[in-house]
Amino acid sequence: MASSHNNSVDQTQSRTAGEAGWHVSRYNLSAPIPNTNKTAIANLLKGNCAVYTPIELYLLSVLDELDEHHPIIERFAKRGIICRFDELAVLDSLGRAACTMERSIELTICPTMGCNFDCPYCFEDHGRGKMSTEVQDDVVALAQRMLDASDSNCIHVSWFGGEPLLAPDIIESLSKRLMALAEERDGSYSASIITNGYLLTQENVDMLASYNVTSAQVTIDGMGSTHDATRRLVGGGSTFERIVGNLRTCKIPFRVTVRHNVHEGNKHEIDKLETYIETLAEESGNNLEYYPAPVSGNPVAENRGEQVRLLCGTDTSDVGIRQEASRFHIGRGHYCGAHNLWCVGIDYCGNLQKCWEAVDKPWVSFGNAHDWDPAHPFETASDPDNLTMYLNTACPVPDEECRECVWLPMCVGGCPHKRLFESRQCVAFKNNPEDYVLALVDRIGKNKDKDEVADKC
Ligand code: SF4
Ligand code: SF4
Repeated sequence: MASSHNNSVDQTQSRTAGEAGWHVSRYNLSAPIPNTNKTAIANLLKGNCAVYTPIELYLLSVLDELDEHHPIIERFAKRGIICRFDELAVLDSLGRAACTMERSIELTICPTMGCNFDCPYCFEDHGRGKMSTEVQDDVVALAQRMLDASDSNCIHVSWFGGEPLLAPDIIESLSKRLMALAEERDGSYSASIITNGYLLTQENVDMLASYNVTSAQVTIDGMGSTHDATRRLVGGGSTFERIVGNLRTCKIPFRVTVRHNVHEGNKHEIDKLETYIETLAEESGNNLEYYPAPVSGNPVAENRGEQVRLLCGTDTSDVGIRQEASRFHIGRGHYCGAHNLWCVGIDYCGNLQKCWEAVDKPWVSFGNAHDWDPAHPFETASDPDNLTMYLNTACPVPDEECRECVWLPMCVGGCPHKRLFESRQCVAFKNNPEDYVLALVDRIGKNKDKDEVADKC
């Protein structure tokens, strides 16, 4: 970030860095690197992590007294570990800007809320209906209005559900129409899908690829019976063999993230499953990527957890650290698409939502695809409060503890939906910053040609 100071100072006049306004960032986390004399420092606002020698650390500790032209200043500033501006004010501005910031319009579309699985931790209340042709017309008209109002010509769709592959005809027909919209404007169209993988047959893979699906997420919760204990068919029945069979035999031209919902009953299989997925990727030639994610408490899971021995409140911080380290990015002042006007979830009835977890909850819908016009977002919303409550959870976060918190650039007060309907969710490893920094260093090690983690934004 550029300096906010206008230093119209005689360059021959010597000032210290402190006098010139430089100070150590409030968003640095550090950790000594075991068996070395070096220290890693991550800056959460800049989204940078680098390794420092004892000399560099000493220079950082005497920053105030260094000459303002000392060459280390530029190096430190580039990595964000020192600055001369108000970083909290930057986060506040970024958060305010997040509401209307657009690169593309992002639609999360549920062609159906029905699902062929019955997972005990699922947050959704599954209906059985599919999106009607009238609602599909409304979705296309809404996309057109969103493109007009945002002046964007790019569309990204996330196919979601329920299980979206229960309605491949709707995916096909909407894809064609949305791709045509983007094309009319010389824009781009891309899509991703969240599927349980059971119906990821070659025919469906080919269909998805032909409609610009560039990534998929499939969930595997452990090896064989461990997976089957939580990812079972409606009415019972195993799914592991069928899913891995699909990943093994289909030629999949897009990246597949294999999500592992980690809980007490399957966390011992993290390494085994990771190795299994790596082998499956090698054997099949498919681009498969393992991704462990802790099962966070949600009312449905907690009510049903005992049935399958889920311990939703379990300490999964080691998994959380790996997960967060893998998506380390520049501080943005907002948490997710819930903060952005151009990110909209649409259920099969055309209800509009700000959050994926709310797509089955019409009572938190802010409008309908038929009526909502983003050119007049609050006037045309059927329930403007359901829109503003999400948008307004970006920075500035009102909570004083958050405003003082070193994790704020990354956490932004946690998931907006949980903040609104449950409670503030702190970073699971809030009191364990060293392990997080070392997980980032681990990423540096895997990225051999670089000594820092690049901004992934
Ligand atoms: S509000 Fe929370 S649950 Fe909803 S999309 Fe954002 S991060 Fe996900
Ligand atoms: S929610 Fe907790 S960890 Fe996150 S910024 Fe607020 S105080 Fe910090």
